[in-house]
Amino acid sequence: MTNQYLIDVLESVKKRNPGEPEFIQALTEVLESLEPVIEKRPDLVAAGVIERLVEPERQIIFRVPWVDDNGKVQVNRGFRIQYNSAIGPYKGGIRLHPSVNLGIIKFLGFEQIFKNSLTTLPMGGGKGGSDFDPKGKSDGEVMRFCQSFMTELCRHVGADLDVPAGDIGTGAREIGYMFGQYKRIRNEFTGVLTGKGLTYGGSLARTQATGFGVCYFTNEVLKANGMSFEGKKVIVSGSGNVAIYCNQKATELGATVIAMSDSNGYIYDPNGIDLAAVKQIKEVERKRIKEYVATHPGSTYTEGCAGIWSLPCDIALPCATQNEIDKASAELLAANGCKVVCEGANMPSTPEAIAVYFEKGIIYGPAKACNAGGVATSGLEMSQNSMRYSWSFEEVDAKLQDIMKSIFKACDDAAREYGMEGNYMAGANIAGFLKVAEAMKAQGCV
Ligand code: NDP
Repeated sequence: MTNQYLIDVLESVKKRNPGEPEFIQALTEVLESLEPVIEKRPDLVAAGVIERLVEPERQIIFRVPWVDDNGKVQVNRGFRIQYNSAIGPYKGGIRLHPSVNLGIIKFLGFEQIFKNSLTTLPMGGGKGGSDFDPKGKSDGEVMRFCQSFMTELCRHVGADLDVPAGDIGTGAREIGYMFGQYKRIRNEFTGVLTGKGLTYGGSLARTQATGFGVCYFTNEVLKANGMSFEGKKVIVSGSGNVAIYCNQKATELGATVIAMSDSNGYIYDPNGIDLAAVKQIKEVERKRIKEYVATHPGSTYTEGCAGIWSLPCDIALPCATQNEIDKASAELLAANGCKVVCEGANMPSTPEAIAVYFEKGIIYGPAKACNAGGVATSGLEMSQNSMRYSWSFEEVDAKLQDIMKSIFKACDDAAREYGMEGNYMAGANIAGFLKVAEAMKAQGCV
């Protein structure tokens, strides 16, 4: 980055936010992409758009006390970052994982601003979470935690204010407990959360949306570069919500998914992963993915997650967590002939890995574009809740496909306009930014 104004902004953010490497990483990537925009748009500099954009509008940190099954008091920390409301109510998931801290929630909230802008729907950026680990907890413990979390959070969220959703560790069960507590305390039945169950206001196709959306976006990338999913070998890391539906759609589109993982290790099945078995192990039994090999002769399990990227594949779809592909893994993917990396997880590639993609000619689809189908469908859930109406699975899925196509077009067009054809990362950052920036400028210094 050579623009002194952007360098100064980044330096001041670093000074003000020590010990938050993921946040600085996400911010640096976006600011670097915005260099040509800033040079062309002195009006946005004069309006202080960048200085305002990098500072969250509101940061909420709170105590979450709950009682475990042994009657012992446990205390976790809760977060909600209301990052930017220029184009709509704050919107973004809740992550429940022991690694959660302020910097991680800020990185996710910052990314969410641009992702939500790209969806074409009116949603601002936010994110929340806690260092609570649902793994190994009983349903009762998860419920008591979720109720305590929402007892505080309910003061800060609302259908027209801030609408949280799921993320790592927050699935249908957790959303249900949080929604129940919100309704009880506030005495209102509104669309305050998305990812709800179908019996109480959830949208059909929301569960599948992020994973399906990743494949719809990847399909556009492939088409634009003269390829398709047909006959391709695909690696999908993770085995959670995003990974499972990514696998399903890639398979439906003609690919063979040969490997999946969890936070302990990965499975390789040259015949194609049996997705029903993975769903049973991870979603129903809540066990480890290594169980798969016991019932699938010819498949193997390897301890450790990073090794999954050493398998030869045509397309890599990282769907687990941030920074899961580092430089060495990216080099292995390139050496083994991988042609496309599209990100289902948020920021799964380190900056060094992204540099390898560009250097070796791997086509790269960044998370904020590829995985925007989840929040887009959450936006559709909000619309249905406001109308007190619900669309069929096919209607929602058709809207999702249209949205993913328009996101691809926006990224492609912005990259071309700024002389970086094929650089979908720059295109996503620029297209996502411009809409928010125009809205911030129009609304004055707030
Ligand atoms: P889930 O909790 O359903 O699944 C996460 C998966 O990733 C699990 O298989 C988990 O393994 C694995 N995992 C978690 N941490 C690590 C780690 N440190 N190393 C390796 N594997 C790990 O979460 P989601 O599928 O919802 O989310 C996955 C990613 O997608 C996240 O980056 C999330 O922010 C992003 N995302 C999710 C959206 C959604 O709609 N759900 C929308 C947009 C983005 P284990 O079972 O061992 O914990």
